[in-house]
Amino acid sequence: MALIVQKYGGTSVGSPDRIKNVARRVASWRAKGHQVVVVVSAMSGETNRLIALAKEMQANPDSRELDVIASTGEQVTIGLLSMALMGIGVKARSYTGGQVRVLTDSAFTKARIVSIDEANIKRDLDKGFVAVVAGFQGVDEQGNITTLGRGGSDTSAVAIAAALKADECQIYTDVDGVYTTDPRIVPEARRLESITFEEMMEMASLGSKVLQIRSVEFAGKYKVKLRVLSSLEELGKEGPGTLITVEEDIMMEQPTISGIAFNRDEAKLTVLGVPDRPGIAYQILGPVAEANIDVDMIIQNVGHDGSTDFSFTVPRSEFAKATAILEQVKGHVGARQVTGDNKIAKVSVVGVGMRSHVGIASKMFRTLAEEGINIQMISTSEIKISVVIDEKYLELAVRVLHKAFDLDQVPA
Ligand code: ASP
Ligand code: MG
Repeated sequence: MALIVQKYGGTSVGSPDRIKNVARRVASWRAKGHQVVVVVSAMSGETNRLIALAKEMQANPDSRELDVIASTGEQVTIGLLSMALMGIGVKARSYTGGQVRVLTDSAFTKARIVSIDEANIKRDLDKGFVAVVAGFQGVDEQGNITTLGRGGSDTSAVAIAAALKADECQIYTDVDGVYTTDPRIVPEARRLESITFEEMMEMASLGSKVLQIRSVEFAGKYKVKLRVLSSLEELGKEGPGTLITVEEDIMMEQPTISGIAFNRDEAKLTVLGVPDRPGIAYQILGPVAEANIDVDMIIQNVGHDGSTDFSFTVPRSEFAKATAILEQVKGHVGARQVTGDNKIAKVSVVGVGMRSHVGIASKMFRTLAEEGINIQMISTSEIKISVVIDEKYLELAVRVLHKAFDLDQVPA
């Protein structure tokens, strides 16, 4: 007997029929003798609908009241799923975040979990109940309802799994696992059997939006085994999904590269002809940070004739704002010109295997060179190499890299 936490996202509970399907799936795990906690999202589209309603009252909704409203979507789903379970003879009981006591800080709309009281849920499990818990929500010290940020039910599920020391946290979604890259771009992309937390973080932060990044971070920290599976397959026909776990659990010989991630959400800014002297990076990036704009890749060139060029990337949505800031900075620091490009894309090869292999970067660069794709920026970490290229070559780059690193081949 295992203790399993299952999380079903908005699509999986998107209609009464789908909720009944979820109930049957939960029942099948119960029938195998497992203890099951189910964490659910709001029915698909519901959270957006609730937020839109709030905005009809206040253009900039009060954040405490917004959480009161937005959290109701999940409350509906836990009631419906508990009824569906009872309807097929499975003992079930619903819990709001407050009833479990998912204690959070008071940062409305983006609260962080402080602690989880697992006693109530444990008692129910021991009595043979399925505990059905509302994702995305918690309660602060004062009893105010809080929410964890969009997509937060993944984090709820992982946190509950950590608190209960569950054997596995299964994330049921509308895809059957994590792929080597986006199958819409590369039809030969393969489902990964397993991937490490670190790799998943890179894949997720680079745009493979299967899981909320924070939930993966949380799972890595508390070593909660995560499995991504499809809830849309017929019962009994679902595959094993993708296991996200610690490196030591990954049995197979690790391929060098696990996947190709990409991101179209960035823009590049360059300050040309900056005086090459101490403090320049700070003078340029300080005001950008103060404006709360995230900076990703940064490049400063070798100086010549006392000046240098300085480039970095920001979220594309902040491009205009960042450009305006730099125009100001230009005057202060005596730079020559500010240029920008919001038609760029970032492509990354990701894999823990590159720690023990040389030549990954050169293979990546050669592959892009052979297609005549110009690399504008490069950055590396221990487990990834990212390049910025012209957006129009994105799909080509992903395809050729996927092939060059044999990701279409099942690892031997
Ligand atoms: N219902 C919330 C949202 O749409 C939380 C979630 O689905 O994870 O963001
Ligand atoms: Mg979701």
